[in-house]
Amino acid sequence: MKVGIIGNGLVGSTSAYAIVMRRAASEVVLIDVDEKRSIAEAADIQHAVPFFQATDVYSGSYEHLDGARAIIIAAGVSQKPGETRLMLLERNAVILKSIIPAALKYAPDAILLIATNPVDIITHLCAKIAAEYDAPSSKVIGSGTTLDTARFRALLGIHLGVDPQHVHGYVIGEHGDSEVLTWSNIDIGGISLEDFVKFRKVNFDEDVKKEIDSGVRNAAYKIIAGKGSTYYGIGAAMARIVDVIARDNRAILTICTPAENIEGIKDVTLSLPHLIGGNGDLGTLPMKLNDAECKALQRSAAIIKEKIDEYEKR
Ligand code: NAD
Repeated sequence: MKVGIIGNGLVGSTSAYAIVMRRAASEVVLIDVDEKRSIAEAADIQHAVPFFQATDVYSGSYEHLDGARAIIIAAGVSQKPGETRLMLLERNAVILKSIIPAALKYAPDAILLIATNPVDIITHLCAKIAAEYDAPSSKVIGSGTTLDTARFRALLGIHLGVDPQHVHGYVIGEHGDSEVLTWSNIDIGGISLEDFVKFRKVNFDEDVKKEIDSGVRNAAYKIIAGKGSTYYGIGAAMARIVDVIARDNRAILTICTPAENIEGIKDVTLSLPHLIGGNGDLGTLPMKLNDAECKALQRSAAIIKEKIDEYEKR
């Protein structure tokens, strides 16, 4: 399994490191406009390889993407303190317009894994660019709310005293302020949240819910205020997606891909649970949402759609 990573800043290089730790690929090529950066990151990660599993990590150019099955795109500028992801759109869209054709020239069958923010809109644009090169949208996958779902499970797991791997709950919609935490369908080892808290005698009132909601929704803002950027969580998420592709794991992940219609909003890209395998996206899974969650999802779709339209009308 050969993986390319375009953009080797904090997110790209952490993804590379997580891929090595996870043993998700045998070859990782790092590409960045800042060649010094990609050379330095490749060397630093190479020196970790003897502690894990043999993985060939090197700095290269687009030609080296030949044969790559997945390409992570983490190029761009990151969120500044106080800046929303939507404000990043214009700056990052320009960068992506040159990267996608160059990557598909050398790796036409690769699955593109987009991390660059605002990830929903950037994935929407990337899918359109990729379609011009005959790449299907099933092979253009945005990390979407994969990270937000992990944050939700982590906070639920801590509060409930359970390994988060046994907590099934999803964050859908925008990877951003309007995301939707789907409280109505959480289960812990097959038991509903309501039954679980009764059985384990865990306090789970509205204040706890509010605290978890805020912890998930505002995670990026808080981390960025404290240390400038977020990268461990997304690096692990990207490595997980690569692993799923490498092993055709058929995992259910809240990635984003273009959708024809979400709650009446047409041609929009946002996150829902998808089945992911070796060839990319195998389709969305239907979710049973309550009325409030349906409305919140529609609102989130409308917010993304407005930004897409605003961008496309320019
Ligand atoms: P960073 O500034 O550390 O790194 C960005 C890298 O992109 C730099 O090394 C830069 O040289 C490179 N780059 C710029 N233009 C390029 C081009 N044309 N070709 C190749 N490389 C290019 O930023 P970061 O913290 O690594 O964040 C990267 C992106 O990931 C940002 O958009 C950020 O908002 C996003 N992000 C997404 C998530 C998520 O959940 N999807 C989480 C965290 C960050």
